[in-house]
Amino acid sequence: ATTPPQPLVVMMPTQGMGHLIPMIEFAKRLVRHRDNLRVKFIIPTDSEPTKAQNAVLRSLPSAISHTFLPPVSLSDYPFETTKIETIMALTVLRSFPSLRSALHDLITSNSSLVVSAFVVDLFGTDAFDVAAEFNIPRYIFYPSTATCLSFFLNLPKFDQSVQCEFRELAEPIKIPGCVPIHGRDLLDPVQDRSNDAYKWVLHIVTRYREADGIIENSFMELEPGPVKELLKDEPGRPPFYPVGPLVNLECGRTGEQGEENSECLKWLDEQPAGSVLFVSFGSGGTLSSAQIDELAHGLEMSEQRFLWVVRSPNDKVANGSYFSAASQADPLAFLPKGFVERTKGRGFVVLSWAPQPQILAHESTGGFLSHCGWNSTLESVVNGVPFIAWPLFAEQKMNAVLLAEEAKVALRPNVSENGLVERAEIASVVKCLMEGEEGKKLRYRMKDLKEGAERALSENGSSTNHISYLALKWSNYYKTKTTALPN
Ligand code: UDP
Repeated sequence: ATTPPQPLVVMMPTQGMGHLIPMIEFAKRLVRHRDNLRVKFIIPTDSEPTKAQNAVLRSLPSAISHTFLPPVSLSDYPFETTKIETIMALTVLRSFPSLRSALHDLITSNSSLVVSAFVVDLFGTDAFDVAAEFNIPRYIFYPSTATCLSFFLNLPKFDQSVQCEFRELAEPIKIPGCVPIHGRDLLDPVQDRSNDAYKWVLHIVTRYREADGIIENSFMELEPGPVKELLKDEPGRPPFYPVGPLVNLECGRTGEQGEENSECLKWLDEQPAGSVLFVSFGSGGTLSSAQIDELAHGLEMSEQRFLWVVRSPNDKVANGSYFSAASQADPLAFLPKGFVERTKGRGFVVLSWAPQPQILAHESTGGFLSHCGWNSTLESVVNGVPFIAWPLFAEQKMNAVLLAEEAKVALRPNVSENGLVERAEIASVVKCLMEGEEGKKLRYRMKDLKEGAERALSENGSSTNHISYLALKWSNYYKTKTTALPN
């Protein structure tokens, strides 16, 4: 008897926990829908895998495997000044030889294997060239908002029509389907059009229309305008599959992130329902030393309960731990003297990496002071936890505008003229969110979004239907095509 074909989806995330985590969630749901489907992560790198990466990759189901490509060298680019988008683009390009041989080895190692799809993330479209050599259909997984995706799809047009910096435009920019957004609130890499990072992003998004489909981690009720717009048929625009919110819903207490992190969950168990503010800036976000000092004092002055993931400061950039997801030095050394003792019982400090999905799902958690990374945002939405929006880098300002001004589920603290959010301001927004009338209203609206998320993910919900459509398409792909080795 001949062995039945083995359909496999290859996924290629670029650096950043915020790209890897939701792609893994997508993969888990795909293999749950079709039990013959396999997923392989092929991960380009510019350094050794981090603890955080290994932690999330450790406990995947057997249908999902992964391999790290050998680190590329970027020593010809200055470490201090090269932006993350440039690093990601170069890492993909310089991984071509190893990516090619990884695909070749995969295909030749198993004659029944058929690669049904090659899925890159928002910065990976250059690798379409390698997938094309093997004749594999090409998809984009977009881990941020449909708003940002709509902007990316239109960036080549904006690049032609706008001559100045986007932030200098007097009028807000009209992205199809989205509320007008001011140029200064657009994502980081488009804030300086002379920087390499802008040129890379422009180049990468110009290739979006080559994709056979774009998978989006959002859903209609959270972003009705852009989702509706992108679902319309438009010649030259790839089919659009909103599948969100993809977040880790079932992680256990000791599972993925290890024993060392369960202390904070035990502490949460002892706090009253809805009483704790969770404070975290994602895997990559860092504050300056002066800002850490203000935040500590502000939390103390607020007299509210808090659980704070503290990282050592970075006085130069706001994404100081993007590639490591860890602290460079002992973060406790940077907190005000006596802070930990004075807030003992009421406050809990975690170093570097916390079991965030479990914390947000915990009934003691009542608010989230967040950098508005999209995964953090979705994790909060599915648990109905309202925000204090504190954006730091990438597209986080756009997300903060969406949460505070459109969805109205977040408060935004004012930044003083010295560039800092000062302690009194912090204490006041924290109080307002945790025990004020405004906080109640936000919580109420958050409940609607939470229910919208539940509907999208329910058995016949929109996101479930899109995932099941893709799973079926990819598991049956061999009936129409076979993977070709390049000539
Ligand atoms: N995360 C976590 N523990 C931490 C920090 C981050 O588990 O201490 C997870 C978080 O739950 C989310 C992801 O890492 O799934 C961060 O993604 P996000 O898009 O929010 O921000 P980024 O890290 O990309 O800035």
